[in-house]
Amino acid sequence: MKGKVVDYEELVIGLRKRFPTDDACLKFLADFKWKDGFKCTKCGHTNYCKGKTPYSRRCTRCKKEESATAHTIFHRCKIPMTKAFEMAYMVCNKNELSSGFLSKKLKIRQMTCYTFQKKIKLCLKDKENVPLLAEIMKSK
Ligand SMILES: [Zn+2]
Repeated sequence: MKGKVVDYEELVIGLRKRFPTDDACLKFLADFKWKDGFKCTKCGHTNYCKGKTPYSRRCTRCKKEESATAHTIFHRCKIPMTKAFEMAYMVCNKNELSSGFLSKKLKIRQMTCYTFQKKIKLCLKDKENVPLLAEIMKSK
Protein backbone atom coordinates (compact mmCIF):
# COMPACT_ATOMS: atom_id res chain seq x y z
CA MET A 1 0.00 0.00 0.00
CA LYS A 2 2.87 2.39 0.82
CA GLY A 3 4.40 1.85 -2.62
CA LYS A 4 1.13 2.74 -4.22
CA VAL A 5 0.91 6.07 -2.41
CA VAL A 6 4.41 7.07 -3.52
CA ASP A 7 3.61 6.06 -7.10
CA TYR A 8 0.51 8.15 -6.98
CA GLU A 9 2.23 11.29 -5.75
CA GLU A 10 4.92 10.96 -8.39
CA LEU A 11 2.45 10.35 -11.17
CA VAL A 12 0.33 13.41 -10.48
CA ILE A 13 3.15 15.99 -10.20
CA GLY A 14 2.97 16.96 -13.88
CA LEU A 15 -0.80 16.99 -13.91
CA ARG A 16 -1.08 19.25 -10.85
CA LYS A 17 1.44 21.64 -12.38
CA ARG A 18 -0.45 21.80 -15.65
CA PHE A 19 -3.90 22.08 -14.07
CA PRO A 20 -3.44 23.85 -10.74
CA THR A 21 -6.96 25.32 -10.58
CA ASP A 22 -10.51 24.63 -11.77
CA ASP A 23 -10.09 27.63 -14.00
CA ALA A 24 -7.11 26.03 -15.74
CA CYS A 25 -9.13 22.84 -16.27
CA LEU A 26 -12.08 24.69 -17.80
CA LYS A 27 -9.82 26.75 -20.04
CA PHE A 28 -8.20 23.54 -21.24
CA LEU A 29 -11.59 21.94 -21.99
CA ALA A 30 -12.78 25.01 -23.91
CA ASP A 31 -9.52 25.28 -25.88
CA PHE A 32 -9.65 21.60 -26.69
CA LYS A 33 -13.30 21.49 -27.66
CA TRP A 34 -13.17 24.56 -29.87
CA LYS A 35 -9.67 24.14 -31.20
CA ASP A 36 -11.03 24.32 -34.76
CA GLY A 37 -13.29 27.23 -33.88
CA PHE A 38 -16.73 27.51 -32.35
CA LYS A 39 -19.74 25.89 -33.98
CA CYS A 40 -23.16 26.06 -32.38
CA THR A 41 -24.46 22.53 -31.69
CA LYS A 42 -28.02 23.68 -32.30
CA CYS A 43 -27.87 25.83 -35.44
CA GLY A 44 -24.31 25.52 -36.72
CA HIS A 45 -23.59 29.25 -36.44
CA THR A 46 -19.93 30.08 -35.83
CA ASN A 47 -20.19 33.47 -34.12
CA TYR A 48 -20.35 33.51 -30.37
CA CYS A 49 -20.05 35.72 -27.36
CA LYS A 50 -19.06 34.89 -23.80
CA GLY A 51 -21.56 32.82 -21.84
CA LYS A 52 -22.55 33.04 -18.18
CA THR A 53 -20.18 30.47 -16.75
CA PRO A 54 -16.38 30.59 -17.08
CA TYR A 55 -15.23 29.70 -20.61
CA SER A 56 -18.73 28.93 -21.85
CA ARG A 57 -19.78 30.30 -25.23
CA ARG A 58 -23.11 31.54 -26.46
CA CYS A 59 -24.27 31.43 -30.05
CA THR A 60 -25.02 34.96 -31.26
CA ARG A 61 -27.81 33.71 -33.54
CA CYS A 62 -29.94 31.24 -31.55
CA LYS A 63 -28.52 32.19 -28.12
CA LYS A 64 -27.81 28.60 -27.16
CA GLU A 65 -25.12 28.50 -24.57
CA GLU A 66 -22.60 25.69 -24.31
CA SER A 67 -20.43 25.20 -21.26
CA ALA A 68 -16.81 24.14 -21.43
CA THR A 69 -17.73 20.76 -19.95
CA ALA A 70 -20.73 19.94 -22.17
CA HIS A 71 -20.23 16.81 -24.30
CA THR A 72 -17.20 15.79 -22.26
CA ILE A 73 -16.87 13.25 -19.46
CA PHE A 74 -16.69 16.19 -17.05
CA HIS A 75 -20.22 17.30 -17.81
CA ARG A 76 -22.41 17.62 -14.69
CA CYS A 77 -19.48 16.61 -12.59
CA LYS A 78 -20.19 17.63 -9.02
CA ILE A 79 -16.67 17.47 -7.71
CA PRO A 80 -14.03 20.18 -8.26
CA MET A 81 -12.53 20.03 -11.75
CA THR A 82 -8.98 19.59 -10.49
CA LYS A 83 -10.06 16.46 -8.61
CA ALA A 84 -12.05 15.17 -11.57
CA PHE A 85 -9.01 15.63 -13.80
CA GLU A 86 -6.82 13.88 -11.27
CA MET A 87 -9.20 10.97 -11.06
CA ALA A 88 -9.47 10.65 -14.85
CA TYR A 89 -5.71 10.79 -15.09
CA MET A 90 -5.16 8.17 -12.42
CA VAL A 91 -7.81 5.81 -13.75
CA CYS A 92 -6.22 5.98 -17.21
CA ASN A 93 -2.77 5.44 -15.76
CA LYS A 94 -3.58 2.77 -13.23
CA ASN A 95 -6.75 0.99 -14.03
CA GLU A 96 -6.62 -1.15 -10.92
CA LEU A 97 -6.90 1.65 -8.33
CA SER A 98 -9.85 1.05 -6.03
CA SER A 99 -12.52 3.64 -5.42
CA GLY A 100 -11.66 3.44 -1.71
CA PHE A 101 -8.09 4.42 -2.44
CA LEU A 102 -9.12 7.30 -4.69
CA SER A 103 -11.66 8.40 -2.11
CA LYS A 104 -8.96 8.74 0.54
CA LYS A 105 -6.50 10.43 -1.82
CA LEU A 106 -8.95 12.98 -3.17
CA LYS A 107 -11.11 13.37 -0.07
CA ILE A 108 -14.24 12.64 -2.04
CA ARG A 109 -17.00 10.20 -1.06
CA GLN A 110 -16.27 6.67 -2.20
CA MET A 111 -19.59 6.37 -4.02
CA THR A 112 -18.80 9.48 -6.05
CA CYS A 113 -15.38 8.08 -6.90
CA TYR A 114 -16.89 4.75 -7.84
CA THR A 115 -19.47 6.33 -10.16
CA PHE A 116 -17.00 8.64 -11.87
CA GLN A 117 -14.42 5.88 -12.17
CA LYS A 118 -17.00 3.73 -13.93
CA LYS A 119 -17.87 6.60 -16.24
CA ILE A 120 -14.22 7.09 -17.19
CA LYS A 121 -13.78 3.41 -17.93
CA LEU A 122 -16.86 3.42 -20.15
CA CYS A 123 -15.55 6.49 -21.95
CA LEU A 124 -12.33 4.68 -22.69
CA LYS A 125 -14.40 2.06 -24.47
CA ASP A 126 -16.75 4.20 -26.54
CA LYS A 127 -13.82 6.27 -27.82
CA GLU A 128 -15.69 9.58 -28.03
CA ASN A 129 -13.70 11.07 -25.19
CA VAL A 130 -10.48 9.25 -25.91
CA PRO A 131 -8.74 12.17 -27.66
CA LEU A 132 -9.55 14.42 -24.70
CA LEU A 133 -8.31 11.88 -22.18
CA ALA A 134 -5.22 11.29 -24.28
CA GLU A 135 -4.45 15.00 -24.17
CA ILE A 136 -4.80 15.03 -20.37
CA MET A 137 -2.54 11.99 -20.21
CA LYS A 138 0.29 14.01 -21.74
CA SER A 139 0.75 15.76 -18.36
CA LYS A 140 3.93 14.01 -17.37
ZN1 LIG B 1 -26.97 28.67 -32.52
